[in-house]
Amino acid sequence: MNLIRNFSIIAHIDHGKSTLADRLLELSGSVEKRKLREQMLDTMELERERGITIKMTPVTLTYNLKPNTYNLNLIDTPGHIDFAYEVSRALKAVEGVILLVDATQGVQAQTLSVLGLAREFGLKIIPVVNKIDLPAARVAEATAELAQLLGVQSSEILAVSGRTGAGVPALLAAIVERIPPPLAPSKVEGVRALVFDSAYSEHQGVVVYVRVFDGRIAPGDELIFGVAGEKFKVMETGIFTPERRARPGLETGQIGYLVTGLKDPGRPKVGETILNPRAPLALFAGYEEPKPVVWASIYPEAQNDWLALRRALERLRLTDAALSFEEETSTILGRGFRAGFLGLLHLEIITERLRREFGLALQVATPTIGYWLIEPPTGGQPGERRLVASPHLFPAETKGLQILEPWVAARIIVPENYVGAVVKLFNDHEVNLLLTDNFGSGRMVMEVEMPLRELMRNFFDELKSVSSGFASFSYRPAALRPADVARLDILVNGELVPAFSRVVARRRVERAANEAVDKLVKLLPRQLIAIKIQAQALGRIIAARSLSALRKDVTDYLYGGDITRKMKLREKQKKGKKKMQARGAVNIPSAVFLKMIRSAE
Ligand code: GDP
Ligand code: MG
Repeated sequence: MNLIRNFSIIAHIDHGKSTLADRLLELSGSVEKRKLREQMLDTMELERERGITIKMTPVTLTYNLKPNTYNLNLIDTPGHIDFAYEVSRALKAVEGVILLVDATQGVQAQTLSVLGLAREFGLKIIPVVNKIDLPAARVAEATAELAQLLGVQSSEILAVSGRTGAGVPALLAAIVERIPPPLAPSKVEGVRALVFDSAYSEHQGVVVYVRVFDGRIAPGDELIFGVAGEKFKVMETGIFTPERRARPGLETGQIGYLVTGLKDPGRPKVGETILNPRAPLALFAGYEEPKPVVWASIYPEAQNDWLALRRALERLRLTDAALSFEEETSTILGRGFRAGFLGLLHLEIITERLRREFGLALQVATPTIGYWLIEPPTGGQPGERRLVASPHLFPAETKGLQILEPWVAARIIVPENYVGAVVKLFNDHEVNLLLTDNFGSGRMVMEVEMPLRELMRNFFDELKSVSSGFASFSYRPAALRPADVARLDILVNGELVPAFSRVVARRRVERAANEAVDKLVKLLPRQLIAIKIQAQALGRIIAARSLSALRKDVTDYLYGGDITRKMKLREKQKKGKKKMQARGAVNIPSAVFLKMIRSAE
């Protein structure tokens, strides 16, 4: 009899995944009450503070349902879209999910996205309404919504409170009863395990988090990463309680960890297949290389910290294969890095960790997306493709090139009376509305698509604001599409400042150009010479402003008399100005520079 159940909790952000995980740990008797702390599985300081789950945390619960003792393996997943691939690997590692809906919020946009993924993988779904302890809880409505969405009877839907623990014992029993046990070990010889996460420690090297699908893994086994082709010897096997606890082996169906002893970092990527090289089975489908989606320049506040920043980035990359970076220099900020991230939350997490865990003071520029440039085909060969991830490297002249940019497919759920206000936003952000549908309880669901570039132009905040916070939003990357964009440069006294260059939609060139020069005029302190500020795109100057010279009487401090001294001083000032004009050099204070590169619009 198989006493293992593997499951995950999926939900819209803040619907209570981590809190429910705490209650499952407590009420299954897996963690002693005195050892319990809130959001047990969120171990990073940043996670606990922000109430977000960043790292995937697995845990094995021991649960008695007479007459048996079960091992319930729970993988708590990060809910955010940036980590959608990681979530998809976690869902591949389990047989069922708890689909959690906040009784005060009802089904939200992300609920639908994660549900879609669970269905795609054919997982057993246990629908649960959460937060029933709250006075504002609308349990009956949320239950009806879920029943309709899943096409099941209301009686199949459980109601719980992750806060008080109400209904959680019944949920534990439902996990055992409804989620199928892992399939029995296949008769074939060999080993097959899916890597859904990894960690790195100085003395143990790479530790991979796995779900075993075939065979048994024990210390001493010689195995291989199927995609990377790298062999390793298993030093230790074990489970999460949630701390790592060594066990003599991992059986088919079990979730746990393997200490590989490998010191070569960044190797076992999420989605890898672990095999026995002497009897290799097929690789798991769906493996993807991590792809950066947004890029940002990061500079240490003090140039002395450059090396420390480099080491810190290397260190973080040990456990985060999705982080990429290369050196970059700026005339004003000095040496820094251009780094690629899975999305805006990923960027925020990495920079926060650099600040907290490594004590670094940083300057982070506004993130931008990458564009694909495709040369025209020559001699029957398709044209060369390259990715441009820094705006100043985007060609000023793009004639003959095909430009592609990433799009997203998104879903918005909003109360009916806000639909008008939301649709108004669409025009300004190049949103295509594909479908609008009734969603019950006076809400509408809209399926849309839009360029990622426009999503990053503050779309989410604007959506929240026009809907008084009621709109919920989820998106996923979609295919690349042709982009109608151009590089916009800023010239200060005729000199191009590369860090101020941006890629903008052609239809917005005029507006963006004017906004940029206005902003710089406001920020720049006046200097001894007049300064010309221009925005240039599509081969011409689009907007220009001038900052008049500071008329400073250098003789002010001389009282009366001595006309020759005054004249001498004025002469000196004139020469100084001439020199500055000749050089065309304008000193842009770093504070101004930072304000310019920080807010894009
Ligand atoms: P997650 O983002 O899905 O992991 O959600 P969290 O577990 O972090 O919960 C989000 C917020 O809802 C936190 O402030 C929790 O304290 C609160 N919360 C979670 N479950 C309950 C519940 O059952 N009742 C009440 N009253 N609050 C809850
Ligand atoms: Mg959480």
